[in-house]
Amino acid sequence: MQLTQRVSQVVPSITLEITAKAKAMRAEGIDVLSFTAGEPDFATPPHIVEAAKLALDEGKTRYGPAAGEPALRQAIAKKLREKNNLLYEAANVLVTNGGKHSLFNLMLAMIEQGDEVIIPAPYWLSYPEMVRLAEGTPVIVNTTAATDYKITPEQLRQAITPKSKLFVLNSPSNPTGAVYTPGEIRALAEVILEYDHLYVVSDEIYERILYDGTEHLSIGAVNDEIFRRTIISNGFAKSYSMTGWRVGYLAGELPLIKACSTIQGHSTSNVCTFAQYGAIAALENPQTCVETMVKAFTARRQVMVEGINQIAGLSCPNPKGAFYVFVDITKTGLNSLEFSAQLLESQQVAVIPGVAFGADDCVRFSYATDMDTIKRGLAKLGQFVSTLV
Ligand code: GLU
Repeated sequence: MQLTQRVSQVVPSITLEITAKAKAMRAEGIDVLSFTAGEPDFATPPHIVEAAKLALDEGKTRYGPAAGEPALRQAIAKKLREKNNLLYEAANVLVTNGGKHSLFNLMLAMIEQGDEVIIPAPYWLSYPEMVRLAEGTPVIVNTTAATDYKITPEQLRQAITPKSKLFVLNSPSNPTGAVYTPGEIRALAEVILEYDHLYVVSDEIYERILYDGTEHLSIGAVNDEIFRRTIISNGFAKSYSMTGWRVGYLAGELPLIKACSTIQGHSTSNVCTFAQYGAIAALENPQTCVETMVKAFTARRQVMVEGINQIAGLSCPNPKGAFYVFVDITKTGLNSLEFSAQLLESQQVAVIPGVAFGADDCVRFSYATDMDTIKRGLAKLGQFVSTLV
């Protein structure tokens, strides 16, 4: 069969592939230590599970509005107003099948052939592929550890052309864990506002996972002008350990949300109805469950970052958010695919090669896993690297 040009340009998701491979090896009885997917190892908090069970018992098992249950749209809008200072109403919110789907809808509604989408690298691997599927052109801007893998206002300005339509901002970042300071966010907003044709999508899926008192400022909250040029993507997976539930959301101006709702109405329809009731419970109850998980991530981050920087030949910045460390492997002489394949083969430690994120001199470790795995994994990593450096 002749497949479309559109799909032939797109590569499979390496994060999902390697995660599945590590799980399959484990199922075969191999003791794989997995640092692959960004998937918290905690159970979904019980009050969220109970709310979904109650929804099932109450018969909330039927089709709902494509844009989401009204009560959830309202709860999300309230959260955006009160916690992020983003003045959205329920009508500005679309409930989607996870954060990934909110971004996919956005690209389909906003991007077409000839449109350029500016993406700082290292990037989450699905951004460029989604742009390609929408027949747009990803414009990759490389950043380095010297700026903590953050794009500078000058770099952004240089990447803008008359065809630029969208800038993808992800803070805290997957894969680097970098968090833009409020000052850096304001400086990027100023550049965007110099160009009438440019919008920004702010992927805030890791906004709650912050360390050392770091502050998260949503770019849309900087001022009224940038608010009108901002689209917010977020979801419940990472903050509430709800990866399999598939509940995310998009927030933005009404015509865009209506267009995305129409796309959803012809593709997925509503997100699983009873899962949405779990999401309502997540927002409407005390947030202690999030704080407990962040506390555990804080301890793991310290062991991870110290452990990696003690291995001669490896280095990584101390990330201020998310649950990833992005490790520079240049001194090992291997590229990221070689490094991760050999590490998996010789030590049964699974990591994601940086080439998936547009940085072949690095590999990504997710420390959303237990401390025992982290400690054993670091010991094996040290052994592996000592054979190379
Ligand atoms: N976003 C997570 C990660 O980067 C989950 C896998 C994926 O969707 O790519 O590991």
